[in-house]
Amino acid sequence: MARYTDAKCRLCRREGEKLFLKGNRCFSAKCAIDKRNYPPGQHGQARTKLSTYGQQLREKQKAKRIYGILERQFRRYFSIADGYRGVTGTVLLQLLERRLDNMVYRLGIGASRAEARQIVRHGHITVNGRKVNIPSYIVRPGEEIAIHETFRANKGLTTNLEDANGRGRLAWLDWNPDTFTGRLLSVPSREDIPVTVREQLIVELYSK
Ligand code: SF4
Repeated sequence: MARYTDAKCRLCRREGEKLFLKGNRCFSAKCAIDKRNYPPGQHGQARTKLSTYGQQLREKQKAKRIYGILERQFRRYFSIADGYRGVTGTVLLQLLERRLDNMVYRLGIGASRAEARQIVRHGHITVNGRKVNIPSYIVRPGEEIAIHETFRANKGLTTNLEDANGRGRLAWLDWNPDTFTGRLLSVPSREDIPVTVREQLIVELYSK
C-alpha cells in the first residue's frame, strides 16, 4: 500500500494550519506551525494570491493529508459520496470519519491517525468481536470497536487514552474505559466533525 513517508510537519506548513499528524508533539511548543507558520521551501515566505482553482486544490490536499489518504483512494471516496443522497461534501467527510483508522484515532487509542492505522494493521482492534486489520473499513453506527486483550497493557496505549481523556471526547462516540471498547453512536453531522476543511470547494474541484 502506497503511503506518504516524507516530513509531516511540512504538510501542515503548506496548508498554514495544524493538521495534527504527529500526536502529542502537535500540542507542544515544538509544533512547526507555532515556530514557522509559512509554507516550506525557498519561496515559502513570498506573498502569493491563490486562484479559485488554487483554493479548491488546497482544500482537497488538506483533507487528504488530514485523513492520510492518497489521490486515487480519495477520489474513490468522492465517487461513493457523489452517489449517496445528501450533501456530497458532508457525506464525503462522514465517510472519512467512519474509516476504522480514524475511529481508532478519535477514540484516543492512537495518538495520531498514522499510529492508529498501525495499531489496526497489527491486528490489535476488533469490530463486533472479530479482528479487523483493514484501516479503510467503514464503521457502521452501533458497531463495537474493542482493543484486543493482548494489547491492553501496552504503555503507549495507556498514555494515549489518558491524553484523550484530558482533551475530552466527541459526543457521537462512546468510550468505555473498563472494557476498552468504543462505539459509533451515530453518523456525525457536519457541525460535529472537527476539521476545518471547506468541503464544498472539493466538490467544485472534482465536478469540473
Ligand atoms: Fe502539524 Fe503536528 Fe507537526 Fe504541528 S507538530 S506542524 S500540528 S504535524
